[in-house]
Amino acid sequence: MSTVTEAVASGPSAAVKKIAVVGGGTMGNGIAQVFASSGFDVQLVDQRQEFVDRALGTIGRNLERVAKKLNWESDRVQAILQRVRGGVSLEAARDCQLVIEAVNEDLAVKRRIFEQLDALAPAGAVLASNTSSISITELAAITKRPDRVIGMHFMNPVPVMQLVELIRGLATSDATYRLTEDLAKRLGKTPVEVNDYPGFVSNRILMPMINEACYALMEGVASRDAIDTVMKLGMNHPMGPLALADLIGLDTCLSIMEVLHEGLGDSKYRPCPLLRKMVKAGYLGRKSGRGFYDYTEAAKA
Ligand code: NAD
Repeated sequence: MSTVTEAVASGPSAAVKKIAVVGGGTMGNGIAQVFASSGFDVQLVDQRQEFVDRALGTIGRNLERVAKKLNWESDRVQAILQRVRGGVSLEAARDCQLVIEAVNEDLAVKRRIFEQLDALAPAGAVLASNTSSISITELAAITKRPDRVIGMHFMNPVPVMQLVELIRGLATSDATYRLTEDLAKRLGKTPVEVNDYPGFVSNRILMPMINEACYALMEGVASRDAIDTVMKLGMNHPMGPLALADLIGLDTCLSIMEVLHEGLGDSKYRPCPLLRKMVKAGYLGRKSGRGFYDYTEAAKA
């Protein structure tokens, strides 16, 4: 009698055993964690060894927290961590059946990486991007395999959030879509099919709300805490838009607003000057220790 695991692994993604994740920041380390936790071998690539080490450290700490909460057997964390290898070279993609790019939301950087990945990854491998807003069709067109390029948009924090928005570029094949759909299910996630337009669905709707919260703060409509409290208690959002912007990263929020503004050509998507100013100041949210809120040890104390 076949087990559930065998039944799942015989689906369209059965051949995927080893994946590479490029970029080990907020999203990349979470993506690596969920794949390794579901039994895949993962190559995690970042541009400097210290970033790789930081990502591996974050994965280790997150898994320890889960292990404590769920009373895992003592060796389970180590078994998962052993499936994640870190490095600084894209050569790691050479023997992977899937590569997920999760570098900064910067078209020029992503273009360079897709060019290199197309040259390095096996011809049949699928190249996915975790981009929040950049055109999948454009990234696909850089490669010689546009049918095997797709958006796999995980949500933050990846191990916790259920949704994976799957974005079909103009040339994405049904086979590529089905493979990533099946993979998302194997990770215990819920895939949703979306077409390639600026911001897709998630950020087309979420980011203007965050941007509007920045305007409300800039114009003195209310304080930071008042804005977040209105949206939490009044709209039943689990966290306020300014706290959420800090979680996402203010640089990422700004990049997405720029893509919406340029891609849809409507002034209603103009990025808030306060958001721009904070990014220029290096106040990027949780990852830099300061955004709309202060996350430094001093502030906690
Ligand atoms: P981040 O700034 O936290 O991490 C980006 C990582 O990419 C860094 O570690 C950086 O060193 C690495 N990197 C940059 N250039 C590289 C290169 N050439 N080779 C290898 N690594 C490189 O960014 P993030 O928040 O993790 O966002 C990554 C992607 O995920 C973006 O496209 C973003 O839009 C998307 N995304 C972010 C969120 C979020 O909430 N932060 C949610 C969904 C999707």
